[in-house]
Amino acid sequence: MKETLYLVIPCYNEEAVLNETAKRLLAKINSMIEIDIIKDDSKILFVNDGSKDKTWSIIETLHNENKIFSGVNLSRNKGHQNALLAGLMTAKDYADMTISLDADLQDDIDVIDKFVEEYYNGSDVVYGVRSSRATDTFFKRTTALGFYKFMNVLGADVMYNHADYRLMSKRALDGLNQFREVNLFLRGLVPLIGYKYSVVEYERHERFAGESKYPLKKMIAFALDGITSLSIKPIRIITGLGFFIFTISFVALIYSIIVKLIGKASIGWTSLTVSIWMIGGIQLLSLGVIGEYVGKIYNETKQRPRFIIADKLIDNDKKDR
Ligand code: UDP
Ligand code: MG
Repeated sequence: MKETLYLVIPCYNEEAVLNETAKRLLAKINSMIEIDIIKDDSKILFVNDGSKDKTWSIIETLHNENKIFSGVNLSRNKGHQNALLAGLMTAKDYADMTISLDADLQDDIDVIDKFVEEYYNGSDVVYGVRSSRATDTFFKRTTALGFYKFMNVLGADVMYNHADYRLMSKRALDGLNQFREVNLFLRGLVPLIGYKYSVVEYERHERFAGESKYPLKKMIAFALDGITSLSIKPIRIITGLGFFIFTISFVALIYSIIVKLIGKASIGWTSLTVSIWMIGGIQLLSLGVIGEYVGKIYNETKQRPRFIIADKLIDNDKKDR
């Protein structure tokens, strides 16, 4: 039952961690090959996401030293999600299963065995879910919690405390390949593929070197992108708001007529100013939200490539299927 596993690791400016990461992953994969739970043509696939530092040359050196290290070099920086997709779509031609993880090894690699076990038990997707956030700063913990709450309220169902540490089978990857969207939010897409899934809990460590590429600003952008990519609930909320204001305006209309009829109509400057500002504000905000969707449609209709692969270093035969 032994099958081929590919670890897929997107890397952007990771020269500070890459050699150490490679060492730890190599030890892990070798131990798994030794106890015969994965095939010996399994690989560690780094995706260089247009790094400005020596990341790609480190990957090349690793590949020259040991062919278990493979690499995909993107033509430019395309962001974590696209880089990950590039790696997964490359790996699916060679592997039976893939596990995606970050270059900083914040995700505990000792649970990889459990992922694979769940795969052999028949799961096509195995989600790595953080059991606690003890190592995160209070700030990161609260913003992350807010992130999931916010997402779910606005209709984007994502697995709680799951980032992109997950196993996917070849079949699940073929499914993912049929989602052609340019606005990529993998965490939201993977559940839509379907198939049997399971969950493995793990502890998340601190980044051992280098720095996070996800500051708060990027996290908020990522959350908003995720919501508008997965759900049209924000537009529905605007519709609801429109109904609500319409109802109020109706009451205001009747009130104004009555006041007029009994001859008590006064200048009414305050109420007028407030309503102009408030309704103007709501309209602009609503336009902005709808504009966000129009922008998405614009990007989707162009069907631009999600990534372009410049170089590929993989010493393996493509599986014929
Ligand atoms: N990453 C990438 N392209 C980018 C930004 C990040 O491939 O444009 C990679 C990065 O090298 C890392 C992973 O995405 O392997 C997650 O980034 P990071 O660890 O900085 O995020 P955090 O864990 O702080 O959320
Ligand atoms: Mg990280």
